[in-house]
Amino acid sequence: MDFPLTIPAIVRRAETLFPHTGVVSRRADRSLDRRTYADVIARSRRLVVALRDLGVGRGDRVATLAWTHHRHLEAYLGVPSMGAVLHTLNLRLHPDDLAYIISDADDRVVLVDESLLPLLDKVRAQVAIPHVVVMRTGSMPIAGASDLDYETLLAAAEPTRFVEAALDESDAAAMCYTSGTTGRPKGVLYSHRAIVLHSMAEGMADCIGLSRNDTVLPIVPMFHVNAWGLPYSATLLGCAQVLPGPHLDAKSIAELLAGEKVTVTAGVPTIWMALLAELDANPGAYDLRALRTLAIGGSAAPAAMIRGFQERHNLRVLHAWGMTETTPIGTVCNLPAAMGELPLDEQYRYRAMQGTPLPFFEIRARGEEGIVPWDGRTLGELEVRGAWVAAQYYHGEAGDSRFTDDGWFKTGDIVRITPAGCVELADRTKDLVKSGGEWISSVALENALMGHPAVAEAAVVAVPHPKWDERPLAAVVLKPGQTATADELRAYLAPQFASWWLPDTVTFVAAIPKTSAGKFLKSALREQYRGAYGGAPGAVAGSGG
Ligand code: AMP
Repeated sequence: MDFPLTIPAIVRRAETLFPHTGVVSRRADRSLDRRTYADVIARSRRLVVALRDLGVGRGDRVATLAWTHHRHLEAYLGVPSMGAVLHTLNLRLHPDDLAYIISDADDRVVLVDESLLPLLDKVRAQVAIPHVVVMRTGSMPIAGASDLDYETLLAAAEPTRFVEAALDESDAAAMCYTSGTTGRPKGVLYSHRAIVLHSMAEGMADCIGLSRNDTVLPIVPMFHVNAWGLPYSATLLGCAQVLPGPHLDAKSIAELLAGEKVTVTAGVPTIWMALLAELDANPGAYDLRALRTLAIGGSAAPAAMIRGFQERHNLRVLHAWGMTETTPIGTVCNLPAAMGELPLDEQYRYRAMQGTPLPFFEIRARGEEGIVPWDGRTLGELEVRGAWVAAQYYHGEAGDSRFTDDGWFKTGDIVRITPAGCVELADRTKDLVKSGGEWISSVALENALMGHPAVAEAAVVAVPHPKWDERPLAAVVLKPGQTATADELRAYLAPQFASWWLPDTVTFVAAIPKTSAGKFLKSALREQYRGAYGGAPGAVAGSGG
C-alpha cells in the first residue's frame, strides 16, 4: 500500500490515540497553561482555516517568531497539514539577518509572540510582511493597526471548514536557516517524510527511546531545527509535552522538570552546565527521580559534565550530534552494555563521543588521501547521507561545495571514527564560533574590524569558555602609528552585530600567524589562546572527569 509519511498522519494518530495526553506551557508570567492534544489539534485546525482565509496556499511559507509554547506547537501541526511550510525564525538573530531571511523565504505570514514585537518592528522597517499575527499574553490592544490577533482569528475560524491537504511525502513541511561562515544564511527545507522518519528514529531504543510513558521537555528552542524534532516525535509517540516558554534559566528549568515529572529533556551544553551548578548548589531541592534522559547536542558534551550528572545526581546524559541540514539528529552515543565492564574513566570518555549513526543515516570521513579507515585514530571531515539529510539548500543557493560528487553532505566537522562506527569530533573546518548553541561568524567580525581605520589585520577565533562553550577572541594588528583600545573596537562593532557576538577579548599583536599561502593560521591562534577564558566547560565546573 502506498501510505505517505506525512505530518497529518502524525496528527491523526495523536488525535485518535492520545487525545487526553497533556501539553503544558509556561507563560511569560510564569503561570502554567494546561491543555490536551485534543485541544491543541483542534486549535491547529482552526489555525489552518484562518490561514487559508488569509490567502495562504500550498507551498507558501508561514513564519513563527516565538518561544516554546502550545501556540507554537499548533503552528507546527497545522501549517504543514495544509501543505504550507512552517518557517521558524531564530529570535536571537540580528534584525538585519532576520529581514534578509524573511525576504529570502518570502514569508506570507509571521506568527509572533507579543513580547517579540519590538524585535519584529526593527525587521519590519526593512521588509514588508503581508500579514502579522500576534500571539498575545495580555489584553493590551495590538499596536500596529494592520496586525491581527491570533486568538481572534482562531475564534472566528469555523472548524468544520478544515480540510487536510492531500500531500506527497516529499513535499516541504518546514524550513530553518543556517548560518554560513561567509555570506548570508542559507535555507534548509524538511520534507514530511524526513520529519516522520526522524520522529520514528527518536522513538528507537538506541536513540532517545521515546514512548507514551514519557513526558518531554524540549529546552532547545522551537526555532532550533524544530526543537530537534521533539514536538513531532512526542506527538507521534504519545508523549506528554512540557513547553518552557521564555524562562530558560536553570532554576526555572529545574522547577519545571521536578514539578511536571519530566522524563526526557534536551538542550545544548550551556543549559546543562547551568543546571548542574544549580543542582550542586541545592542538594535535594528538586525531585528529579522521574528524569531518565538529558539529551545533549549542538556542541560537545564534556565528560566531566556527564560524570557530574551521573555520579552526583544519578542523572543520565545522552550525547547526540546533528546539524540543521540533518533534521538534526545523525549520531547518538548510548553506551553499549558490553562497555559497562570497562573502568569508569573509559566509559565516560566513550559517552562524551558523538556516537554511532542512526538507521538510514550513513557516515564516512575524508582525509587528504581520501576516505579514512575506521581506526579511531585517523582524522577526516565527516560526510553523511541519509533519509533526513538535505540534498541542497533552498533556491539551490551557494551550497554546492558542501555536497560531494557522489551525493554526500560535507559537515565541516573533523572527526575520527572507531572500528565500531562511533564518531569522535576533534575539530571544525567551519570558521564559526558556537556560543551557547548559537553561531557567530568569525569572518564577519574580522571583516568588520578590518573596516576600522586603525586596524591593519584582525583574526577572530573560537576560544573554549566554561559557560558558553566557546566565545570569540579577536587578535588585532594595528596600522603603524595608529592606536585603538579594545573598548573602542567593540564600540565600533556594536551597531553592526547582536551584542552577544562582540569578542570578549580584543588582544593587540604584532603579527597574525599565517599559512604558507598567506591565510590566517587560525589553529595556531586557537592553541595560543586556549586558556584565555578559563578553558572548556567541564574543566572548570565539573569535577572528577
Ligand atoms: P547547527 O546546524 O547549528 O545545528 O550546528 C551543527 C554543528 O554543531 C555541527 O556541524 C557541529 O559542528 C556542532 N555540533 C552539533 N552537535 C555536536 C556535538 N554533540 N558535539 C560537538 N559539536 C556538535
